[in-house]
Amino acid sequence: MTISFHPDIATLMSFSAGTLDEPYAVVISTHLAMCEACREQVKRTNLIGGALLSLEPATEMSAGSLDRFMSRLDDAEPVQPKQQSKPGVPAPLAAYLPDGIDAVHWKFSGPGVAIADLPTSRNASGRLMLLRVAGGRKVPEHSHGGQELTLILKGAYRDRFGVFAAGDIADHDEDVEHQPIAEPGEDCICLVAVDAKLSFRSRLVRTLQPLFGI
Ligand SMILES: [Zn+2]
Repeated sequence: MTISFHPDIATLMSFSAGTLDEPYAVVISTHLAMCEACREQVKRTNLIGGALLSLEPATEMSAGSLDRFMSRLDDAEPVQPKQQSKPGVPAPLAAYLPDGIDAVHWKFSGPGVAIADLPTSRNASGRLMLLRVAGGRKVPEHSHGGQELTLILKGAYRDRFGVFAAGDIADHDEDVEHQPIAEPGEDCICLVAVDAKLSFRSRLVRTLQPLFGI
């Protein structure tokens, strides 16, 4: 799998620090299961964070301590998912999709577009969902009320940033407007975490938004 788009380093650091809300952490965990480069990045971030916490402010690194620290980086175990999952479901999603993607109950969300909310913990903030866009169909142009993380599980879509295929992640904040169009062919299925309702530009879509539940 060739992955071209990764989370922002700030998002990975928040994941390492355990400060991401559950929907975002699930998306990042799923990306990590698919992306060795980010697994390495998180491993390093974890170790650097731990090392910084353990340093006294006035402590100077002794000769050789940097070498020992770097060798610890090389020895560290990668983040490995442990859950069992259905075929086609990345391990970190096993608990959220116990019966697999084929058993998901999709809700109509516009022509060629469907969503399925995934249950999260009762006190989790934000929303975790699957988004399915038929080949060649558009997701209405929108901006975000907060951060949006989108991980492509199947198929591909194109927007002004490029073509996003399986394993790629789009990490957008509230300043980004974009209009993804699924590439022709198979459905594009994405795992999405949002912390607020999407904001659509079209008045018609805004009017219909409550009906579609998006
Ligand atoms: Zn990555």
